[in-house]
Amino acid sequence: MNKRIYLDHAATTATRPEVIEAMLPYLGERYGNPSGLYSLGIESKKAIDNARLIIAEALGTEGENIYFTGGGSESDNWAIKGVADAFSKKGRHIITSKIEHHAVLNSCRYLETKGFAVTYLGVGENGIVRPESVYAAIRPDTIMVSIMYANNEIGSIQPIKEIGAITRRQGVIFHTDAVQAFGQLPIDVDECNIDMLSASGHKLQGPKGTGFLYVRKGIDITNLIHGGKQEAGRRAGTENVPGIVGIGRATQLALEDMDNRIKNECELRDYLINRVLDEIPYSRLNGHRYKRLPNNVNFSFQFIDAEPLLVMLDMSGICASAGSACNSGIKKPSYVLEALGLPEDVINGTVRFTIGGENTVEDIDYTVDTLKEIVGKLRESSPLYEDYKRYNKI
Ligand SMILES: *Cc1c(COP(=O)(O)O)cnc(C)c1O
Repeated sequence: MNKRIYLDHAATTATRPEVIEAMLPYLGERYGNPSGLYSLGIESKKAIDNARLIIAEALGTEGENIYFTGGGSESDNWAIKGVADAFSKKGRHIITSKIEHHAVLNSCRYLETKGFAVTYLGVGENGIVRPESVYAAIRPDTIMVSIMYANNEIGSIQPIKEIGAITRRQGVIFHTDAVQAFGQLPIDVDECNIDMLSASGHKLQGPKGTGFLYVRKGIDITNLIHGGKQEAGRRAGTENVPGIVGIGRATQLALEDMDNRIKNECELRDYLINRVLDEIPYSRLNGHRYKRLPNNVNFSFQFIDAEPLLVMLDMSGICASAGSACNSGIKKPSYVLEALGLPEDVINGTVRFTIGGENTVEDIDYTVDTLKEIVGKLRESSPLYEDYKRYNKI
């Protein structure tokens, strides 16, 4: 078996050849420091400005509102701690959800140790935060709402526009972790009243260790790294020029074929969902059926454990994941699936498939055929399934 079908694009993506090609000169002959006043430096500065402009346009904003960072986690940390630090005199209450990425959740937990109060909103069975619950949670001392654009495990797309309308009216800063959505879905920060937005390069076929934070003009969050005047003095340090060029090029390419990719991925996604639900008994789809990322599928298979399933899928050349990559290796049920109210035995049998541009119908057919076989085999040796059959006299 030397075929490999990669279905873990929510964990990371392969850097596109065009992105590598765009980066290479800046790892080689174009090594100038962007702060230099000679042409070698000015070339680097121009390349950064160009990437900033591409990203700003993708969000419907201006370049001066984009700050390059070292990835999604850094952007989330900066957004949350930066607001907390700068606005603590106004209030010390933050609202977020139970299904955020660890970069948001653990930043909030850290702030709780510093005297901030955090409300962790629950979600419905479909994995979606209710805008009314955001409204109800806002207090006079609330300074920030942080709700992700789309969830990394179950793909559920959040009502960002509705939440943005509420936070704007209430005068509360609205941050969204758009790491899974940026490059996959069209985003307009003004239309949605988003004040801050995090994204990451390696989730959109760009390089790892790159990202950005969008900050609406006039929102004065505390600077992340004190030092030189890079990134308007807010995140000092000589810029990662090749990385910034890479995330810029990746964004440009993602925008160019976004409509096509959404269409293709939705087709493959729905084909995978329908085949599995039709052909594998005791399987369920987690998250909202339609309000989900074009590339995300998350199934629970009753009576079995995801771990041996993933190992056997890997032996057949299929890369999938048990929910979030950050949790793999740790035997702890996914907090996202817990927030949906799923019982532990269902959570234990949960596998995430995330599709990418290179996947084909043949890949999906092979995956479903393999899955059917493996799930069948694992159930044959499952005491849970034995009990179920005996109890229901099957
Ligand atoms: C991957 C991911 C992050 C972290 O991004 P990194 O660039 O890997 O630090 C944050 N939030 C979400 C929703 C993610 O999927």
